[in-house]
Amino acid sequence: MRIINLSSGSDGNMTYLESENVKVLIDIGLCCNEAEKRLALIGVEPSQIDVILVTHEHNDHTKGVDAFSYKHDIPVFAHRDVWENMNYKFKKTPSKNRRFYETDGFRLRDINVKAVPLPHDVPCFGYVFENNDGKISILTDIGHTNERILESVRGSQLVYLEANYDQDMLAANLKYPPALKRRISGGHGHISNREAAHMIRALVATGTRQVVLSHLSQENNTPTLAYTYISEFLKEYGIIEGVHVKIDVATTQPGTMFRL
Ligand SMILES: [Zn+2]
Ligand SMILES: [Zn+2]
Repeated sequence: MRIINLSSGSDGNMTYLESENVKVLIDIGLCCNEAEKRLALIGVEPSQIDVILVTHEHNDHTKGVDAFSYKHDIPVFAHRDVWENMNYKFKKTPSKNRRFYETDGFRLRDINVKAVPLPHDVPCFGYVFENNDGKISILTDIGHTNERILESVRGSQLVYLEANYDQDMLAANLKYPPALKRRISGGHGHISNREAAHMIRALVATGTRQVVLSHLSQENNTPTLAYTYISEFLKEYGIIEGVHVKIDVATTQPGTMFRL
């Protein structure tokens, strides 16, 4: 499998994953034109995409899905609960391309996909992709982490994990009203650098060797702060970044292409 994050954060999320037999987009939170441009950067034609997998309804994950699906005749696949939540946004996609699943797993040709329900303020799913090459997980928009989520992704060699905000930056942000701060940090919004650090410590023990910190807030976090906080935290437990686990940070621009 090969995977690359093409945009991450509240301005738009989009990830491209391919195996020998299937090409998948996970969310299109950018407008259709921009999504096409980003695919062109990696030499992929929009018409080559087999399916758009959606995590949840929020605009930073769905902005371009309807237009892209309609223009290139690509099926959109999401959990039934997510479709119920986002159907109103879809004006163009014909019903034949509105596909849903209800089970906790499905196959995309040679890839087994596990759908992991995440505590967020709308129905939301993380995804675990597994085939003979290995196991890759994408977990963002997580209200809080728990044992069930960890169990679902354990053993993933590569994990895209949310590290949305720094607690002190969020607390000190005068632009954010208290209600919004509570929404972000209250268990059904996003996870902090500290929660991400705890999760990574647990993931490393299950075999994870590469983490990409994702969905960073541009208001309440910085790539350097997230990376430094988490590396220092792990060091206290004898986990050295660059030795036991490699940590990258996803930004609004296309990141590294990883291969398993
Ligand atoms: Zn989001
Ligand atoms: Zn969200």
